[in-house]
Amino acid sequence: MKLYNTMSRQVEEFVPIVPGKVSMYCCGPTVYNYAHIGNLRTYIFEDTLKRTLVRAGYSVQHVMNITDVGHLTGDGDDGEDKMEKSARESGKSVWDIAEFYTKAFFRDEEALNIIRPDIVCKATDHIQDMIALIKRLEEGGHTYTAGGNVYFSIDSIDDYGKLARLNLDDLKSGARIEVDSNKKNPKDFVLWFTNSKFAGQAMIWDSPWGRGYPGWHIECSAMSMKYLGEHFDIHCGGIDAIPVHHTNEIAQSEAATGKTWVNYWCHGEFLLMGNAKMSKSTGGFVTLPSLEKEGYDALDYRYFCLTGHYRSQLKFSFEALDAARTARKGLMERLDALASEAVPQKEASEAAKSYMKAFDDAMENDLGSPQAVSILWKMIKDSALTASDKLIAADYMDGVLGLRLDKRVEKVEERVGSDEDWALVEERKEAKKNKDFKRADEIREELKKRGYNVKDTPSGAILEKIV
Ligand code: AMP
Ligand code: ZN
Repeated sequence: MKLYNTMSRQVEEFVPIVPGKVSMYCCGPTVYNYAHIGNLRTYIFEDTLKRTLVRAGYSVQHVMNITDVGHLTGDGDDGEDKMEKSARESGKSVWDIAEFYTKAFFRDEEALNIIRPDIVCKATDHIQDMIALIKRLEEGGHTYTAGGNVYFSIDSIDDYGKLARLNLDDLKSGARIEVDSNKKNPKDFVLWFTNSKFAGQAMIWDSPWGRGYPGWHIECSAMSMKYLGEHFDIHCGGIDAIPVHHTNEIAQSEAATGKTWVNYWCHGEFLLMGNAKMSKSTGGFVTLPSLEKEGYDALDYRYFCLTGHYRSQLKFSFEALDAARTARKGLMERLDALASEAVPQKEASEAAKSYMKAFDDAMENDLGSPQAVSILWKMIKDSALTASDKLIAADYMDGVLGLRLDKRVEKVEERVGSDEDWALVEERKEAKKNKDFKRADEIREELKKRGYNVKDTPSGAILEKIV
């Protein structure tokens, strides 16, 4: 398995820390609004990565957080808490907002056939873990308190910004307009707010530094380490997380433990609306339910995402989504037709297996999903394969693509009976075709003597063991 690692800017051979096992953490949604389809592109990429790792034989422990506190409208420490802002604007409590949008998020994930992470953890359930981590940083001399807030000092470590390859000289010159005069270095960031800028902040907890709430970045460090340990394999997110969120996660995690935190950093590129990143703050964003209202299936969108490589920008347009819908519909119709003509077959032929292998090779080469989708199509159109071959191979590929191709496809039953029994089934099929019903009945009786009932199904005759 090969994966592009943002840390090295190279495609690398994936080697897990523990052979056969993968620990993977993905930054989850901030539940103050509906996820837009750009956010969902990132979760589809992560799901596809997980499915590919499982196909490659790994057992994957997938952890995702739910950000329900501390994410300000600015990625740094500027702006208002997104949750509080949404609550104020809607007249609901922050807890109600969090619950409502968390439910909406998992509804979208379910519609997109995204496998639920093994652990889903809410920030507000892990405040004590965050406090413990901040204490550890404080003991290590990585923090200072100013204006009532606890800050992480980026000058307390010597490799701040290594993921984003930030230029520290530029940082030190402080070219950026500073919003928080308490910061010793403009890139220092808040670990714990006690000096809330916002009157009536609803989500606050006691801490050694006073009543307050955590900064955004600390939650991912605290929760990932709690569930995956201090050193794990893969950390994912969208590319916008690289310069601030993931940079700060690395700084505080490695300052606390004194060692490498994550081996592979995997980032999904943006979904574009026009020429700009789809985003909630600039308006003009599309949700999955709005597409469904227009008559699209969520899986049309998943198909659309798979036709682009996760590290390339993908331009959203209704024309492009229409093309994806047409292609997926065509695929389902072909599979339906194949299911009605398929003769049960124990396993795929060598030719079908070579398509399956080519598919795996494409996916295991840094998730080449566009090539993988074209291999699926090539296989479906290959007249040298039997209908059963195609159904078996499509089912296999769908384990990674997650397009629910089996939903419209009659399952080929597990084959019972010897090759001789099946030769009789074939002979009976021929006899029926030639309207030789006498012979067909004789074969039915013969098979009964051998211990099988022969049953005709839409995908061909099958044998059922008489018990
Ligand atoms: P948020 O809920 O805002 O924290 O974002 C959830 C995830 O979506 C993060 O991993 C972001 O990096 C990612 N994301 C945000 N906008 C886009 C976009 N236009 N295309 C793809 N991913 C995005
Ligand atoms: Zn995160």
